[in-house]
Amino acid sequence: MRNGEVFHGHVVRALYLAAGAVDVAVETGDDELLEAVARQFERTLARRTHLTGGMGSRHLDESYGEDFVLPPDRAYSETCAGVATIMLAQRLLLATGDLRYGDIVDRVLHNVIATAVADDGRSFFYAHTLHQRVATEVVSQDRVQLRFGGGARAPWFEVSCCLNNVARLVASLGTYFATEDPGGVQLHQYAPMRVEAGGMVLDVDTAYPDAGVVTVTVVEAPPTPRTLTFRIPEWATGPESVHRRVFKKQEQIRLELPMRPRWTFPDPRVDALRGCAAVEVGPVVLCAESIDQEDGVRLDEIQVDTSVAPEVGAVKGHRTHPADTGRPYQSRRAAAERPDPVVIPLLPYHRWARRGPSTMRVWLPADPFERVSRTV
Ligand SMILES: [Zn+2]
Repeated sequence: MRNGEVFHGHVVRALYLAAGAVDVAVETGDDELLEAVARQFERTLARRTHLTGGMGSRHLDESYGEDFVLPPDRAYSETCAGVATIMLAQRLLLATGDLRYGDIVDRVLHNVIATAVADDGRSFFYAHTLHQRVATEVVSQDRVQLRFGGGARAPWFEVSCCLNNVARLVASLGTYFATEDPGGVQLHQYAPMRVEAGGMVLDVDTAYPDAGVVTVTVVEAPPTPRTLTFRIPEWATGPESVHRRVFKKQEQIRLELPMRPRWTFPDPRVDALRGCAAVEVGPVVLCAESIDQEDGVRLDEIQVDTSVAPEVGAVKGHRTHPADTGRPYQSRRAAAERPDPVVIPLLPYHRWARRGPSTMRVWLPADPFERVSRTV
């Protein structure tokens, strides 16, 4: 495969370059260039993107890995790469009118950007691991942190790009939520807001993504037909997405998105994730954090039971008791002796590492391995 077909090298620079290329393509009417960038992005999303929407698999050069190299414990997923992904996705959305690009913005906002900054706004993640194996120390407020530090948000890094990038994104967030064309309004992201666009004034009320109901109240509308379009996320099916008519003042349009927790499985070509599963609710990726587990249950000993639907905030599984045999390899499959049933609490990935040092994992070893080992 030629390098021109997928993003490679330094993730943030590749995405910035692509965003600039979309601008050039739009300004000059270069459809070939636009299609080439869209193709590269599509392939990168299909093969080089973490579940969170984060990109980057190598700490060296802060770069993409080869296709399907997506190790959760070495995920780089720089905050700036999240910002740059949103910038590129939005440009492609505006250039093509394809609402699916809004899915990417949604995913990155809720799993990379929302994860980056501490609740008090005084520390942040530069990189976003998906698997923290060892609880790190609390970072001193007066010490510069190496930029690769994973387990705790740090007050400052030797490279400070992400801080400014998040500030810029938050300041311009409103530009990503709705668009207009001569026919009406398109809603791409859901948050409480007033939208003045497409000849209409709309009030949007929602607790998304904590809840799936989005209520739009028409404040002003012309006496001629308008089209109101909702982005229906890829994980949702069913709701009607396009409404075209003469809207009346105070009329309400309601969208209900299904927010049941669901299992997510990796492509089998992602070697680092084989045998694992994750849980998502709407656009939000969940994780298990050590601080929430039953006494003595370690995150490297759990197996989840994917034959049982995830509940809100927890999944069923087992605690295994791996034996130390002197080497991490044996001539037969390690038997999971006396697996104890456990409930494994989960929380949104963007909430992790907010209660002190902990271990964490997004991808959870799943039960088929246990069944195999019992039959050996
Ligand atoms: Zn950065």
